[in-house]
Amino acid sequence: MLRRLVFNNSIKRQLGSRMTSNSSQKLSGKVAIVTASTDGIGYAIAERLGQDGAKVVVSSRKQKNVDAAVEKLRAKNLHVHGTVCHVGKKEDRASLIKQTLDQFGGIDIVVSNAAVNPFFGPTLDCSEEQWDKIFDLNVKATFMLIKGTVPHMQTRGGGSVTVVSSIAGYNPIPMLGPYSVSKTALLGLIKSLVPQLATMNIRINGLAPGIIETHFSQALTSIEEIAKSILSQVPLNRFGQPPECAGVVSYNYCPR
Ligand code: NAP
Repeated sequence: MLRRLVFNNSIKRQLGSRMTSNSSQKLSGKVAIVTASTDGIGYAIAERLGQDGAKVVVSSRKQKNVDAAVEKLRAKNLHVHGTVCHVGKKEDRASLIKQTLDQFGGIDIVVSNAAVNPFFGPTLDCSEEQWDKIFDLNVKATFMLIKGTVPHMQTRGGGSVTVVSSIAGYNPIPMLGPYSVSKTALLGLIKSLVPQLATMNIRINGLAPGIIETHFSQALTSIEEIAKSILSQVPLNRFGQPPECAGVVSYNYCPR
């Protein structure tokens, strides 16, 4: 796990900084949905896709967070629409898709970024409810979002999907077993969808970040002892930053 963490962080830094300095309008005319995009990695991805010319629909559970994110992105002259979408709620996912079509007329790019982790401890101590929540939100909701958006990408002649997994998907992080397994499941989901989506000219790729400094990772980054132990394996001796993930996602979109 640690070797992969080192690799991910150093590669992402190189890619991230190069791409940030090369923002273009290469996604002009494209429409993107990014889930859980009012903060952290999702917000940075929404911002970057917007800077690269896409119209972006941002969403998360809380209206006040959606409003704040939309205001910040519009202040940067980005073309965005915001809506509430708890990815675990069927009706919210349907509304996200409908609003995207109503506002921007189609869907070309889907970034499934939302995930939860309600459990920290030895894997066998995870309750059935916690297990269900992790798999409903992290895995099933991702699948249902892709299933719901594919017909609209087909209508446009193709598209691109990015699923946010984690280095934990390759090597489980201690005390985060069920979350890690859900991220491994996403790697399997991506691979299982590749051939079917390819016949529709839809690409699907995964992003597996190392430890990125966000609200989500605070338990790891803010406790000095844990942070030190993680950083001792990172040559740059720092955590990744959300925009470094965003450059990779934008790069992943290959215009037809
Ligand atoms: P974050 O900074 O905590 O951002 C959380 C965002 O998700 C907020 O916009 C939040 O807004 C929204 N959100 C939370 N629950 C949601 C739900 N059920 N439905 C829709 N939106 C929801 O998280 P992050 O660190 O950027 O993580 C983003 C993704 O990267 C996750 O898939 C995570 O597993 C992955 N990842 C993170 C790291 C890391 O070190 N940070 C490493 C590897 C992978 P509301 O509160 O308004 O809903």
